[in-house]
Parts: sequence; structure tokens; C-alpha cells
Amino acid sequence: MAQAEKITPRAKDFSEWYNDVIMQAQLADYSPVRGCMVIRPLGYRIWELMQRALDDMFKATGHQNAYFPLFIPQSFLSKEAEHVEGFAKEVAVVTHTRLKATGKTGADAVEPDPASELEEPLVVRPTSETIIYAMFAKWIQSYRDLPLLMNQWCNIVRWELRTRLFLRTTEFLWQEGHTAHATEGDAEAEARQMLGVYRKFQEEWVAMPVLTGRKTESEKFAGALRTYAVEALMQDNRALQAGTSHNLGQNFARAFNVQYQTAAGGLDFVWNTSWGVSTRMIGGLIMTHSDDNGLVAPPRLAPIQVVIVPIWKNDEEKAQVSGVSAQVKDALAKAGVRVEVDLRDMKPGAKYFDWEAKGVPLRLEVGPRDVAAGQVMAARRVKTAAGKVPLSLNDLATAAPKVLDEIQDELFQAAKARREANSIRGVHKTQFLEFMNGTGGFAYGGFCGSGDCEAQIKTETAATIRVLPDPEFQSPEQPRTCMWCGKPSVAEAVWAQAY
Ligand SMILES: [Zn+2]
Repeated sequence: MAQAEKITPRAKDFSEWYNDVIMQAQLADYSPVRGCMVIRPLGYRIWELMQRALDDMFKATGHQNAYFPLFIPQSFLSKEAEHVEGFAKEVAVVTHTRLKATGKTGADAVEPDPASELEEPLVVRPTSETIIYAMFAKWIQSYRDLPLLMNQWCNIVRWELRTRLFLRTTEFLWQEGHTAHATEGDAEAEARQMLGVYRKFQEEWVAMPVLTGRKTESEKFAGALRTYAVEALMQDNRALQAGTSHNLGQNFARAFNVQYQTAAGGLDFVWNTSWGVSTRMIGGLIMTHSDDNGLVAPPRLAPIQVVIVPIWKNDEEKAQVSGVSAQVKDALAKAGVRVEVDLRDMKPGAKYFDWEAKGVPLRLEVGPRDVAAGQVMAARRVKTAAGKVPLSLNDLATAAPKVLDEIQDELFQAAKARREANSIRGVHKTQFLEFMNGTGGFAYGGFCGSGDCEAQIKTETAATIRVLPDPEFQSPEQPRTCMWCGKPSVAEAVWAQAY
């Protein structure tokens, strides 16, 4: 194995640090196609664990998985006016269905066959509202067919000029939930419910505290009536939108003629919602917890939760510690722990370094003296004041999962404390400008509701309203005036510079 390279410290260059962490932990790599990424096995395992947990939560709330095509007729995208405007600048378009040989060599050897040009071009889905609601129109006839609650796991393409691994790539993986309801109230309840599911997942699994709330008109999803979002604060004090849930109103139902017969016998358009989270959450996980030694993975989403490192000086010792390590591995695996033994022919220090970069939450060192004492030495990825502590071999299968739970909780608490330390409330304009030109973070202040104020603030500070926070996150004292223009405030807003 090549000696691991040094990771750029966060304080020196956060963006370089982020890339180094991903490369050293072998989560993803750049692809030959600019703007796209390759998700490597350890990164994909995190995604699988995320998928598993979320999928269970979706099913527990009554949703079923389905799959809709990657290609959408171009005309579908233009049926909802706001929607097409929102996505036109970033869709990939398929115009031909085959290549033909040109007789030349090299890159010019083939070209699209002009005879295969499609009558109507297809777009590669940037999101699937249009094709899904075209199908809903076929499937929904009566109020008895409602609610219709679906989800799909898939890839989507939004042509990005500036890309960053996991955070912004041309193709990415996500899930998109799509539902149809009889009333506005039902759709609103669904959109709110799924926002709650996202919050629960991100707090309990990603250990990433989030604010929930509503997006302003200028920040909402193209075609939605209302957009809700979960927003997290990264270690560089920039916000990450980590999931959105939209009440789409009847906009798409009208565009795709999704009507149902009401109980009273009339005809009405359905009310839709859509909601999604993506591989972007892996970027959030990295930027919430990791440090200058590499990835820090919350135990519930760590591909490997415990690594056992046997330590030996000769063959006799190796046989002994390997045997004990295998037993420990079996016991932990039976207790449901994702565990590996590292028997590579390397110095223990180099192994520690490697597993730290890969973010393994707990390392168990098994040396001859430990075995004689009936214990192993436990070292946490995020070091505590206690340092390495001995754990008895006898009850390791109960002790190790307990430590993992503690680590999970501590990561969440630390991230929450950091977020609060980097939030200011009741800001006025001067203070806001200082804050955004300085450290940055979440700034809570009054908002008049004007898009002009939002635009000016964005131009001057690059900060945008992340959410109009839900009551739970609102300041005890509600602001009376817009922190920017001084007119009466219509809602408290949270600003931040964002990814
Ligand atoms: Zn204002």
C-alpha cells in the first residue's frame, strides 16, 4: 500500500481539505466525464446504509417504490411554465439513437447517424414530476384511488458547470417521492410529514442537526406552491440544503390533467407533493464531522464500525492475537456490528493512520499482553480525554455497541453545539454585514418579504435565506422590522452563505 498522503488542514483550505478527505477515505473519484463522479465501494456503502434506513422510513409512512424512465419527452418539460424555466438551463438532450462509422480514425471514427434523429428529442430526467404525473393521470380516476404514495430511487442529470464531489455533480443518485391527494390539507400534511422524516434521518443517522422551515418564493422549487427544506451548517459555516419537500399544489395536476371523481360525484384536480434527498448528504456527513486526520463517520452510517488491529512481534504472537481477533470479530458480528480484522503486514501505526482516514469510529487493539489480561484496548476515532481504554473480552459484544451509541450521540451533540456557536439572532444590517464578511454562519433576523431585499443581500454578501424557520427554531423574541430595509417584518428568516 502506498504511504498515505497528508490531508490539507481545514484551517488552511477547507475546499482542498474536503477533496483530500474523500480521496484518502476512498469514497469517490473524478470520472473521465467532466462533472461526473465515480462513487467507490466505501462511499457507495454509506449510500446503501442511507438508502436502507430511509427506505424503511418511507415504507413505514405508507409509500411504495416504483421506477419511471430516465428519458422524458422534451414537450413534457414545457407543460408546467415555471418548471421548464427552472430546469431548461441544465438539461441534457438526446437527439439521435445511433452512431455510424465515418471511415476516419480516432475520435472522428463515429458520429451520430443523421438518419437516426428523433422526431421529438428526449431529455434526461433532471427530476421526474412530468413523467410521473403523466402516468398518475392514467392511474387515478376516483377519490378511492387517493392518496397515491410513491417513491423512486434513481439517478438524475442536471448539467453543472462547476462541480464538487457529492455536493454538485452532473449526475447524482437520489430518491424522489411523488404523491397525489384529494385535498390541499392532505398534500400539505404529506409535505410536512416527509420533511419530518428527513429531519429524523439526518439527526439520528447522519448525526447532523438541521433547521427546518419554508423557502421563500425566490428559493422555492420550480413549479411548487410551497417548498420546505432541512438546512445544516457545515464546519466552514456555509449552509447545506440537505433535503426538500414540496407542496406542488394543483400546478402539475392541471398541466398533466390529473383529475379524479370526488365523493360527491364532481371532478377535481389532485394535489401533489414531491420530496427528495440525494448523495449530497454524504457531502454533508463529511463536512459536519470530519477532521484534519480524515473522515469521521457516524457509527450508524459507517461502512466499518469497528476495526480490530492485532499487534504482534513474532509468529507465535501473531498466531495468538489473530486467533483472539477472529473470536472478537465473530462475537461482534453476531451482535450486529460491521467489523473487520486488519491482518495486513504493516506497522500498527500505519494501520491506525489508514483507518482514521477512512473514518472507522472504533478501533480495538489486540496485543499479547492485552490477551493475557483478558482485554483489548479501545481507541475512538474522535479522541476523548480518557484516551485508549481497556475493554474486557468477556462482555465486548455488549460494550462495543454501547460505545458506538455514545459516539453517535456525541457527534450529534458536538455538531449542534458548533451550529449554535455560529448562529446569531436578532441581527440588524451592520451586524449582518460584519457577520457575513467575517466568519459567516446562520444569521436570524426580520424579513419584510420583498424579493428585492433578498436580491440585494445576495449581491452584497452572497447570503441567501435558507429557511423561514419553523416555530421550534424561531427566536424567543420575534423581530419587528426587516433587518435590511427596516420595513415591518413579515417573518423571521435565517440567512447563510450556502453550498
Ligand atoms: Zn426588507
